[in-house]
Amino acid sequence: MAGIDIEGLATVYPNGVRAVDGLDLHVVDGEFFALLGPSGCGKTTLLRTIAGLEHATEGTVRIDAADVTRAEPGKRGVAMVFQDYALFPHMNVSENITYPLKVRRVALSTRTATAERTAAELSLQGLLERKPGQLSGGQQQRVALARAIASEGKVLLLDEPLSNLDARLRLEARTFLKKLQRDLGITTVFVTHDQAEALALADRIAVMESGKLRQLGSPREVFARPANTFVANFIGSTPMNLLPGTVASTTSADELGVVLVAGGSLPATAYSAPSGAEVTVGVRPEYLTLATGDVSGPSLRGEVVVAENLGTQSLVSVDCDGTLIGVTVPEEAEPEPGTRVVISASASRVLLYDRESGDLLARQPATVG
Ligand code: ADP
Ligand code: MG
Repeated sequence: MAGIDIEGLATVYPNGVRAVDGLDLHVVDGEFFALLGPSGCGKTTLLRTIAGLEHATEGTVRIDAADVTRAEPGKRGVAMVFQDYALFPHMNVSENITYPLKVRRVALSTRTATAERTAAELSLQGLLERKPGQLSGGQQQRVALARAIASEGKVLLLDEPLSNLDARLRLEARTFLKKLQRDLGITTVFVTHDQAEALALADRIAVMESGKLRQLGSPREVFARPANTFVANFIGSTPMNLLPGTVASTTSADELGVVLVAGGSLPATAYSAPSGAEVTVGVRPEYLTLATGDVSGPSLRGEVVVAENLGTQSLVSVDCDGTLIGVTVPEEAEPEPGTRVVISASASRVLLYDRESGDLLARQPATVG
């Protein structure tokens, strides 16, 4: 059982930067856990603080229930893969993989066996005698992973493990990494700035901004119900529409409300916002429907500006009273620019955020379940 418990953690650099700023997190044993956020939000610092490579200024880190906040990196039972892999150029693959074991004075015969077994697990057979300079980027990345796995830590920490690979290889490596983590069942925390990667790989995602946690949830939760407009903006290949709106009617809990936005209105499940409240309305382009005829119920009217090809879908930008709203449509269903269209949505997909704080407004209690 090797969960990670982080309580009130802050890491402040000597120059005063609070790179991690009061964080509480619990990573469950065996979980594949993503730290996601824009560059500079403190992901690497958090990972290095868990590993003991940075000093926690406040708070505690527990691994496998043991308080390791002040423990040496080597005593924490963690294995880390650095963003640049940090392979030793003068050592061959076998020596690189078993270096942590050599430091621990494990016998050569055991090291050789470990190198062969780990190399097989990571599809590196036949490369054990090569130097890192004679390997492709993907192979180097797997050697770095192999070295971390061979050290038999309780916890695996990966800093942007796929970001140095080219786009095509990254997808392959992503699948490989997910399967490997599942097979090993080792508690893994990986850092990424790529929301698609976090959604694809993680059991749960912690979204960070400026050293703080903005949302913790499953990929589905952070995609479908971002807790605030920061997460709403950050998650999704096509950006979520975030529109100024005014609540027009809130009715009893199980009935629908209506929110006015540029070009008309959208339905919304009753929220804890009174009639007349100024809100930010969030709705993903994928959850909007485009029609050219009449639509019953709340809808928006506008004119098609452009359509962008996304492969099997197109993102259509519609001008609604001067506000551009994105709607995705199936391929070959794009209306021509200039077409008058009607946009509608299901109430369950329309999210209301507090205009000031950007926080998601909770549905009224009676609608829960
Ligand atoms: P991320 O990995 O999310 O890009 P980092 O953890 O590397 O973010 O950095 C978080 C913040 O801490 C940034 O503002 C960065 O400039 C600052 N920072 C990182 N390393 C140091 C350091 N060694 N000394 C001072 N500030 C640092
Ligand atoms: Mg980083």
